Amino acid sequence: MTKIITAENIEEAAECIRRGGTVVFPTETVYGLGADAMNDDALRAIYTAKGRPSDNPLIVHIADKGDVYKLSSDVNENAKKLIDKFFPGSLTVIMKKSPIVGGVVTAGLDTVAVRMPSNPIAAELIRRSGCYIAAPSANLSGSPSPTVLRHVVDDMDGRVDYIIDGGNCDIGLESTVVDVSGDVPEILRPGKTTYEELKQILPDIIINDAILKETDTPKSPGTKYTHYSPKADVTVVVGSKENVRKVIQNKISVTPNCGVLTYKGGSYPGVFTTDAGDNMQQYAANLFYSLRLFDENGVEVVFAEFADEGGIGLAVKNRLFKSAGHKVIYADD
Ligand code: AMP
Ligand code: MG
Repeated sequence: MTKIITAENIEEAAECIRRGGTVVFPTETVYGLGADAMNDDALRAIYTAKGRPSDNPLIVHIADKGDVYKLSSDVNENAKKLIDKFFPGSLTVIMKKSPIVGGVVTAGLDTVAVRMPSNPIAAELIRRSGCYIAAPSANLSGSPSPTVLRHVVDDMDGRVDYIIDGGNCDIGLESTVVDVSGDVPEILRPGKTTYEELKQILPDIIINDAILKETDTPKSPGTKYTHYSPKADVTVVVGSKENVRKVIQNKISVTPNCGVLTYKGGSYPGVFTTDAGDNMQQYAANLFYSLRLFDENGVEVVFAEFADEGGIGLAVKNRLFKSAGHKVIYADD
């Protein structure tokens, strides 16, 4: 049975982690499904609860910057610069693993992914448990990550020992993942910590191809699986506001049971709509929530308004395009 608690009773959840159990906890990005990163049975329970393929490695969460030196035997200059600047926060750093890190958490890779969350409940849980906590997003594999308690409960009730209610997640998209284990630092997954910010610290950083394309050979194992998909069939419409709206008007007139994810308040009388907000930061915070909202309202086909903007817009684009299985209409073409 799953027990839902608040941060007041966090010691119970910390104890649960120590004895090899599973705890869903809030972070500033999305809710995470945590277990002791050094306990292989506990780690297998994460994969089972999510239905996650065992070749998709987990991020290890720490509460003390110094712990990177225990988890990695090669904290190089690039790693140090990123950790100094962005820990704690929404950045995950991939480095060569140390011998204490086992093969279940890394899915057999010789690298380990490490993040230090800034959410105080997450930090307190890690600190009190005395463990490093491995935690993927707390959704069933393939579904949009949960950013509110209701969506955690929908996916995880009965599958984990504890859920800590921490309200709504601020950022709404998973962390930026940067691989610094090779000679050239590489962004494997975009997030709130943007390419522009990272480039100021590591000028030679590159963006991995798989971020905006479908590929069979991604460097980050997780990116090859279906991701962020609601039950509804999603199509993204990109371009100027006016052209995007014309395309969607035409589509909805011939599509039964559809809905529209609007950006900056589009109006489509007679169809279910929800607005992603007025800027890309708001779009990020609302995206996963909105995708699940369409399913909850029985919408079968979704058209999503999108505009190509930089910054966190790259992360929104990455998640949205994946949720649509790369079905994209360029309205200005
Ligand atoms: P999630 O925890 O659900 O946000 O997913 C974690 C992401 O980080 C997945 O896309 C993983 O494939 C990726 N990841 C974790 N560890 C590594 C690693 N050692 N090398 C490359 N990618 C990793
Ligand atoms: Mg995930």
